[in-house]
Parts: sequence; structure tokens; C-alpha cells
Amino acid sequence: MAKHRPERDSWGSLSDKNVYDWSSEEEEPDGRARPIQVLLVKDDHTFELDEAALSRILLSEEVRDREVVAISVAGAFRKGKSFLMDFMLRYMYNHASENWLGNPEEPLTGFSWRGGSERETTGIQIWSEVFLVDKPDGRKVAVLLMDTQGTFDSQSTLRDSATVFALSTMISSMQLFTEYGRLAMEETFLKPFQSMIFLVRDWSFPYEFPYGQEGGMKFLEKRLKISENQHEELQNVRKHIHSCFTNISCFLMPHPGLKVATNPHFDGRIKEIDGEFINNLTVLVPWLLSPRNIDVKEINGSKITCRGLLEYFKAYIKIYQGEELPHPKSMLQVCGGDRPFLAPSELQARHSAIREEALQVFKGVKKMGGEEFSRRYLQQLEGEIDEVFVQYIKHNDSKNIFHAARTPATLFVVIFV
Ligand code: GDP
Ligand code: MG
Repeated sequence: MAKHRPERDSWGSLSDKNVYDWSSEEEEPDGRARPIQVLLVKDDHTFELDEAALSRILLSEEVRDREVVAISVAGAFRKGKSFLMDFMLRYMYNHASENWLGNPEEPLTGFSWRGGSERETTGIQIWSEVFLVDKPDGRKVAVLLMDTQGTFDSQSTLRDSATVFALSTMISSMQLFTEYGRLAMEETFLKPFQSMIFLVRDWSFPYEFPYGQEGGMKFLEKRLKISENQHEELQNVRKHIHSCFTNISCFLMPHPGLKVATNPHFDGRIKEIDGEFINNLTVLVPWLLSPRNIDVKEINGSKITCRGLLEYFKAYIKIYQGEELPHPKSMLQVCGGDRPFLAPSELQARHSAIREEALQVFKGVKKMGGEEFSRRYLQQLEGEIDEVFVQYIKHNDSKNIFHAARTPATLFVVIFV
């Protein structure tokens, strides 16, 4: 069932290559295009960047000096990212031709479709093949497809995901955020960048807002309206979102049909997908990827090449890796278990100084979401510091032998004095 790709041309297959079933776990045996995990968030919440793999992709001779269009599809596990990206691949491999959807009986291949064996990982996968596309103005640009996946099952994985989404937002020219039936703006953390498209899937109110981009825009306008009775945090996300992206849009996608959603043997063939879904897919994919619509990645107003993108990737990772949290040890150095009893006024003074220092560290670190957004976390920090101080007072008091003498349980301490 291998499918032959043509020689490299303006739509740039790297070689006469086959694209079919793949396994991201296997070592690359024959140079077939496949998704490559370039960033992985490990169980201990550390980030691992596969610099060698990323370099192989971005520094290959044909693409390294080309301006890059980086397209990221972001979202949680099982939001249909791979499914969508496989269609994007099909569009790229079929050279944006009129009938890019191809044979309705042909199974879908690419990012997904290895029957449930995908693991739930947080990180970024990149399609190993970078496509070369001719823009209408004659420029040849490199198109990179990224799958950015987050996990939202706990506070700590939420934090990892926020970092990964921020990273992928920073390095992409366009980010598509997939979500079912609603807008999860509460979960997105934003940085000032190019395009953000919310892709709302399984949209079931077409009579209210029609499928597609126009309905999506109207829906988005409604959702982005700031109202008095919204929680402050949500109001801030809404205010912030406009200052973050040059373009924000939204696309409402119908349900693909029960076979797609529930049949474990479904292999992606178009014949088994709802017609309404396919109709909208033929609008969505060219809207995202047609040569006239793709945008080169810009940072601070300058266009970035593949080689440049690699450098940014490495630099951004360093920022996140370098953001070490201060260790909660200062007060323990003052009044910990092996320290002698401290006069309460002294303890109070030392506490105030260290508290101030901690708050300064918090204020000094760059945070996502802006000043107002972080204020509540500052308050939370103050609350927590005050709470542990109460514990320190008790702990310190227990070392006061004069105080201790009054309680029979510690009478024996007094004997030694
Ligand atoms: P990923 O983990 O985000 O990459 O999600 P997948 O693309 O692997 O899709 C997860 C499951 O959702 C698969 O069983 C797909 O068939 C199904 N799926 C894909 N797109 C849609 C959609 O738009 N709506 C629904 N309900 N299911 C979808
Ligand atoms: Mg996937």
C-alpha cells in the first residue's frame, strides 16, 4: 500500500519517497517521512530537546536558508490533531491540487493511525519532511508541520503544557488550537505572536453560527466580549488575547460522524466520513495551507529561515530550563530543627526580610499573562508565606525551654538545664 511521491518539485517531497505506516519508536530505517518527537516533557517535568533530530530536519541543505512557515496544531490528547494533520499532509503531498483529497477509499496515513498505541505525551512532534512551496509572489518558502500536545490531568501537567504551548506559539507563524464544542481560552497561555486559530470541533449549533470561518468569527466575537459578571481572570485572558496575536480567527467544524468518533477499525478513508465534515475540510485545509495564505514566521519584524528557527528553538528552551524556582530553604536556615531558639522579635524581623526578598523574586521573573493576571498569584504566594510563618513560630516556640518547662511532656528537658 506504499504510495509513491514524485520527485522534489515546488511542493517539495525530499526524494522519491514512500509515506505509509510508521512507528515513531523505531529508528528511522529507510528515510521515510514520519513524525519526529523533537521536544518531550518527561515524567519529572524536565524538558528534553532532541537537538540532533531538529537539526537534521531544519539544517538539511534544501531548506536551511529558506524562510520558514511553521504551522502548529496544538491541543490535548485525543482532540483529533493527528487526524487533521494527516489531511494537511495529504494536501501538501498532492500539491494543493483541486482534488487533493484523492481516493475516497484510501486509508489516512501520517501522524496517526496506528490503532490506539499512541501514548499520552506532552511535547512537540515535527513532520520530518519540510515542504517547499512557491508563494504567488515568486518566493519559495519552507513549510514545517508541528503537532503540539499537552496533558491536562493535573496541576503539574497543566503547567508543563502551558510551557509547551507557549514554546510552540513562539516558534510558529500560525497555531491552530483544537477543542471540542467550546473555546478553552481559560487553558491557553499566550505570547505576542502571529496567528492563532481556534478550531472548534463537533460544532452542533450551525443554525446559530454556521460552520466555517465566518460563523467562527461571529462565535469568537461573542466569546471574546468582556462582560462585567465574568470572573476577573477570564476578563484578563480576553483583554490579553487581542494584544497577543496579530490575527485571531476561529473555524467551526461539524462532527465527522460516528465511524470516525467510535469505530476502532476506522482507518481514515474519506468514504466513511460525514459529507458535511469533508465539505468543511475542503475549505479549512486550503484556507490554512494554500500558497497564498501561508505566512512566513517573523520575530521582531524580521523573517526567519529554518536555520534561524533552530536557534530560536534552542534559545527559548533555555529560557524555560533556566527558570529555576527558588528553594524554600531560607527560613529553615534561620529557625530549622538544628537551630537554637530565636527571640520572637528577631524571628519576625528575619521573616519580614526574607518575605520581601521572595516577593521581589516573584515580581522580577517574566511571567505569562501580564501584570494583572499574575497579581492573584502574588496574593496566593503572600498567603502561603504567612501560613508557613505561623508554623515557624510554633516550631521556634517549641524550642523555648522556659516555655517548654510548663508542659509535663517536655519536663525532662528542664532537668538537663
Ligand atoms: P490526537 O490525540 O489529538 O492526535 O487525536 P487523534 O487525531 O488521534 O484522534 C483521536 C480520536 O478522535 C480518533 O479516534 C479520531 O477518529 C477521533 N476524531 C478525530 N477528529 C474528530 C472530530 O472532529 N470529532 C470527533 N468526535 N472525533 C474525532
Ligand atoms: Mg496525535
